Amino acid sequence: MSTDWIALEKQYYAQTVRRQPVVLVRGQGTHVWDADGKEYLDFIAGWAVTNLGHCHPAMVEAIQEQAATLIQTSNQFYTIPQLQLAQILVDNSCLDKVFFGNSGAEAIEGSLKLARKYGKKNRNGAYEVITAYNSFHGRTMTTIAATGQPHYQEPFQPLTPGFVHVEYDDVEAIISATTDKTAAVMLEPIQGEGGVNIPADDYLQRVRDWCDRQGLLLILDEVQTGLGRLGSLFGYQEYGVEPDVMALAKGLGGGVPIGAFLSKDHCMALEPGDHGSTFGGNALTTAAAYASTKYIIEHDISSNARAMGERLMQGLEELKSRFSFISQVRGRGLLVALEFDSDIAAKALSLTNEAGVLFNMVKPNTLRLMPPLTITPEEVDEGVSRLEQALSRL
Ligand SMILES: *Cc1c(COP(=O)(O)O)cnc(C)c1O
Repeated sequence: MSTDWIALEKQYYAQTVRRQPVVLVRGQGTHVWDADGKEYLDFIAGWAVTNLGHCHPAMVEAIQEQAATLIQTSNQFYTIPQLQLAQILVDNSCLDKVFFGNSGAEAIEGSLKLARKYGKKNRNGAYEVITAYNSFHGRTMTTIAATGQPHYQEPFQPLTPGFVHVEYDDVEAIISATTDKTAAVMLEPIQGEGGVNIPADDYLQRVRDWCDRQGLLLILDEVQTGLGRLGSLFGYQEYGVEPDVMALAKGLGGGVPIGAFLSKDHCMALEPGDHGSTFGGNALTTAAAYASTKYIIEHDISSNARAMGERLMQGLEELKSRFSFISQVRGRGLLVALEFDSDIAAKALSLTNEAGVLFNMVKPNTLRLMPPLTITPEEVDEGVSRLEQALSRL
């Protein structure tokens, strides 16, 4: 029974997250099942992680095979899946070198260490990184300092110094904040956790131009937008802008814990001894990530994300014309938000859970939708129909 597991959690698990009262035991494609046998359409996908859906055969096979072959070595040694993953990421992006860690926060930490060292070597010891309000870069001490949301920071002061926050989608703010201490600008192509905030089409290009003029690194946090989510393999391709450094995680492993930062050769300031990780890039996680990434590329899953994103937004727009309390539908690819005119998202969430479709409440008045990129047209329509059922009871 779900209720028994929920009681167990309350007794034994650190109460650091707010959970929905749903105990998931199994997943297949876009569907998951709870401990009581109820089926749901999963429009959260493990936080935009299970890009191929749950338990995709390509990943299951790669994990099973690698688990029976070699799981973990130390990074004193070469392992083959790690190099295959490195090659496919570099060959399919504008970046030249990659390092693997275990999470998005670690990918950002590595990017920031790179920026600090770059500033030391090339910009007279510049160390500051400009980031945006409402950004999200992770939960470690340094990544919460980078994250432009005070509520993640206040209980944990003092934070790592060296971050300057500016309004998102405001190039002038970046220009004003730039000093001789600035080493880099770090942005998400679209802010995910901050509420699915979509900048003007020319924002990243104008930031890129400023970084070029000033010799600043442009770091793109593509932890959420990378690997097909926005309709291109990487979010920067949607905006025609190349970053100097890019962080990946979430969708990279399709469900196994892996993160990465990639850099162009001209700014790969890290040298032997500067950075490392016990588990980072191990044979098991990289074999899974390689299988997932290869599948996304070979089957052009990004295009499906684009098409299904359009279909989903259309469906939501129809709901918006029916329900006056829906104030906005926004998104790109399969990163979509549904905004209400008041703080009713929590209430909506209980009803959508009941109706059998799982969403994330990204703000008190906003739901975030980020289903697997392999979602079918029928599943999109069914998700919208279950949402409609829930909203009609609001
Ligand atoms: C989720 C997320 C992170 C942090 O990733 P973790 O794996 O949770 O450490 C960083 N940046 C962005 C944009 C994210 O969405």
